[in-house]
Amino acid sequence: MCSIIGYRGGSDAAPVIVGALGRMEYRGYDSVGVATCDGGAISVRKGTGRVAEVNGRAGLDALRGTTGIGHTRWATHGGVTDANAHPHQSNSGSIAIVHNGIIENHEDLKRSLEADGYEFASETDTEVVANLLQRNMASGDPKEAVLRTVSELEGQYAFVAMFGDGRIAAARYHEPLILGVGAGEIFLSSDVLGFVEYTDEAVYVGDGSIVMIDGEGFSIYGFDGAEAPHEVTKVSKEFGDAYKGDYAHFTLKEIHEQPETVAGAGLRTAGAIAEAAARIRGAGGAYVTGSGSSYNAALLARQILPGARIEPVIASEFQFSAGNIERGSVLVAMSQSGESADVLEAVRIARGAGCSVISVVNITSSTLARQSDVVIGMGCGPEIGVAATKSFTAQLAILYRMAAEMGGGGSGLDGAPASITRMLAGTSAVKRVAAGLRDVSDIYVLGRGIHYPVAIEAALKLKELTYIHAEGIAGGELKHGPLALMDSSVHVVIINPGDATYKDTLTSAREIRARGARIIGISDRGSDIYDDWIEIPAGGGPGGPYPILEMIPVQLLSYYAALAKDTDPDYPRNLAKSVTVR
Ligand code: GLU
Repeated sequence: MCSIIGYRGGSDAAPVIVGALGRMEYRGYDSVGVATCDGGAISVRKGTGRVAEVNGRAGLDALRGTTGIGHTRWATHGGVTDANAHPHQSNSGSIAIVHNGIIENHEDLKRSLEADGYEFASETDTEVVANLLQRNMASGDPKEAVLRTVSELEGQYAFVAMFGDGRIAAARYHEPLILGVGAGEIFLSSDVLGFVEYTDEAVYVGDGSIVMIDGEGFSIYGFDGAEAPHEVTKVSKEFGDAYKGDYAHFTLKEIHEQPETVAGAGLRTAGAIAEAAARIRGAGGAYVTGSGSSYNAALLARQILPGARIEPVIASEFQFSAGNIERGSVLVAMSQSGESADVLEAVRIARGAGCSVISVVNITSSTLARQSDVVIGMGCGPEIGVAATKSFTAQLAILYRMAAEMGGGGSGLDGAPASITRMLAGTSAVKRVAAGLRDVSDIYVLGRGIHYPVAIEAALKLKELTYIHAEGIAGGELKHGPLALMDSSVHVVIINPGDATYKDTLTSAREIRARGARIIGISDRGSDIYDDWIEIPAGGGPGGPYPILEMIPVQLLSYYAALAKDTDPDYPRNLAKSVTVR
């Protein structure tokens, strides 16, 4: 989702804000803007495009003033236009606002404001909030104005508003908002990356709270106006470490980090893995939920966790089976960011049914982590590329470690880091195949058993990074439909390691080849059925972590095919890293 930022301190605000927006680019956006307050006047510069582009065009960082707000927008209400970019000003020009999320009752509010003579320059729901604040400022007290405004809003939002006198106000309701407390300066941001370069002291603003900042410092209140207790916590400096280093893209860097991230996944919270295993065993099973790649990890949980009834549920679908949730069961919620709105909603529903909640999450200070009984940290450091890579394999490694706790025996992970290193060192076959995908319009990925969820995740990676239509199919389903689609224009990736699924999958490959499609085999055993063979190290099974090994060439293939197609692997179009609206 988009990012919001606010700054009040001793330095010029605009360069600090532009730098922060650049560090949060991974969250996905289509427009950028900054407003500052200087000598009682608010100036706004904004437009569509990337941070660097808009800054080059509009000189965002040349704005003067030591108080400012900034935004990267991911359009939900109104097209991607300069006029709809944030910040938005109220009619008087004395209030500017940036906003993340949606205001569901914006049409009603707009009508009521129009009846009072307010005019609108954009199609956004956000501009309504700016004018509501102005209308509610009749009391002359910004705190009262913000409280009255939030009492009128429906939806999910975090916003930061700046007043002409340099005061800043913010509100949080089901969208992230974090306060950074520096020496003589205060930040408000959707993500610690917005300020960690300047300070590692943060306050996670509670849901349903407002923040008021003036020359004296900050105060936090509940929506009822009462002072809200809060703690200042230290955020990990590792989040400041989100730089590409020697890699062309974050995605490539993150793929290459996997020998370490798989080796370390969940280990800083080893007690939590054992606790989670005990709870799942005690309950005889668990619901496992997530969105996107995290849901695909949930599908694999069913295969990886022994002796337990595992029910994977897509987070956004959880609400539709709310009535069938077994009371007192366990929900395992998977989310890299811990801010995914659908996952948080699933947690809310499961809690209502008396379930205990185990989270597998990378950001252990996230909303999800704070709402969980047991928190397993992925521990894989910041993942900036929008497409999940190291967070997915970290989730799988955690599942293997949990399986070892549940079933006895080892996790099978010991050799995995060295195997991944070997695959990362020998990429010539992957690069050759990737170059051949440039003009392909359909890719199918086929697997059986534990390799079927891998095929689904592989198709997702290909879609996200290359924009090629890709679909995962279960080998046994081939004759029930997909075979009709096979012809010489199609490429099929066969996930076929040497385990119990090997022979049947090879038969599927033969049937597909007979229809003229091109076969790319990902396997530890070569075969002349494959037009291209991408070799993975042996030793994934039985019970070993083949899915982790199989994902490495799939990620590399998607990455290099993205380069061949000239798409940006770090920021796929129309996608956001963390989907914080439902
Ligand atoms: N709903 C607002 C808009 O469309 C904010 C979207 C966002 O979160 O960036 O402008």
